[in-house]
Amino acid sequence: IIQICLPLNALGFVFREARDALVNTEKLFGLLQQPVEIQDAPEAPPLKLAGGAVAFEQVHFGYEPGRPILHDLSLEIGAGQTVAVVGGSGSGKSTLARLLLRLYDPQQGRVTVDGQDLKHVQLDSLRRAVGVVPQDTVLFNDTIAYNIGYGRQGAGMADIIAAAQAAQVHEFIMSLPEQYDTVVGERGMKLSGGEKQRIAIARAFLKNPPLMIFDEATSALDTRAERAIQHELDRIAQGRTTLIIAHRLSTIVGADQIVVMDRGRIVERGRHEELLAKEGLYAQLWNLQLQQEQFEKLERRMARQP
Ligand code: ADP
Ligand code: MG
Repeated sequence: IIQICLPLNALGFVFREARDALVNTEKLFGLLQQPVEIQDAPEAPPLKLAGGAVAFEQVHFGYEPGRPILHDLSLEIGAGQTVAVVGGSGSGKSTLARLLLRLYDPQQGRVTVDGQDLKHVQLDSLRRAVGVVPQDTVLFNDTIAYNIGYGRQGAGMADIIAAAQAAQVHEFIMSLPEQYDTVVGERGMKLSGGEKQRIAIARAFLKNPPLMIFDEATSALDTRAERAIQHELDRIAQGRTTLIIAHRLSTIVGADQIVVMDRGRIVERGRHEELLAKEGLYAQLWNLQLQQEQFEKLERRMARQP
């Protein structure tokens, strides 16, 4: 049985790509170096929010000359809507998130929020408006309370605890000797990927921004923990513009729109049922993931047997 299951298992890991250590929350918020050309235009006005509609308009983008990553990509996320992006590793999903945060500028085309080209608005105001749960969270070398509270200036302990509860990490924190005062990060206590991810989710809950990006936000959690937190993520997506880069397809069946990316292009778009009916790439990915879930169930059942 192991021989049959292993290749299946490997296939199911389509979405579990190598962690992109380069991009983490700190980098997203500009604490590390970012390309010098990304700066406020002279006297750039703050972003004026009016619902938070996002548009990628015929975007061409590459990180380095001669190696295009996104090709003529157009995508709209209506104010308050949820768009989910799926596709294989390296297809350009996280790149969309980075452009929306203006970590980079497109070489052609533009990215707008409520009609304003991100190149022409104050960076700070943009990043205040967007909450991110990244693929790989790096925590500050500081207390857990600080790491969560960083989501919103002036947040009190009660807010921090409420956010931790919503992210289902409060009980874990309370089990630590120094609870919310536990120092984490490089020189502090080492947390697992899943624990860090929940702290990042708590931080995003606390920030409560009009735009949210979840970049495989639950990839470090097992299926059960993921399910437990999913309805909180759905709740935070309610009424705000949300870009979800999906880890498990089962978490995005309710999205207003699903786009399937392949090598820097959107190759399919529609709602879950529409895409299944097309029997294209999305339907393939969906079936692959069903097999993966069945495999995991089998694996658990075998683990329980003496
Ligand atoms: P996905 O999130 O879909 O796995 P990414 O958007 O992270 O894919 O990456 C798309 C492509 O861009 C990949 O080929 C990746 O190697 C490349 N890439 C990502 N980040 C960088 C970078 N900082 N410099 C150069 N190439 C990059
Ligand atoms: Mg990615």
